[in-house]
Amino acid sequence: MHLLMSDKAEVIETDGTFIHSQSASFPAPVVVRLRYYVRVPHNLPMPLSRRAILLRDAYTCQYCGSQPGRDLLTIDHVMPRSRGGRADWENMVAACGPCNRKKANRTPEEAHMTLAHAPVRPRFWAMALLMTPGNDAWRKYLLVT
Ligand SMILES: [Zn+2]
Repeated sequence: MHLLMSDKAEVIETDGTFIHSQSASFPAPVVVRLRYYVRVPHNLPMPLSRRAILLRDAYTCQYCGSQPGRDLLTIDHVMPRSRGGRADWENMVAACGPCNRKKANRTPEEAHMTLAHAPVRPRFWAMALLMTPGNDAWRKYLLVT
């Protein structure tokens, strides 16, 4: 708030609510852009985990778009591990059980299945913000390079 009052930041996204002070009211910020450069660690490695993959993929099967819930989602290796596929951000996606079984030991091309998004390593700071419930406004900043 201090940053907004002092004009160092501008609101670029709000959730429709307003903040009132004695002399003014203005939209409550959800996302703000700093007008001046602030050092943020860009290159921290984001720890790879099942939870992080599911969060990056918005708890959505990357093949059929279903959202069966985090307990029923599986992690699919795009290039199967048995064929040299690595356990890294670029080779792992959220998949529902039926899609994972259907794809089995094949590539998406072989299985005639299309990925909703090419899997990428997410930005550390956006992932950290997304991990706070109710912070989904940050999702569109997750994969921007
Ligand atoms: Zn699916």
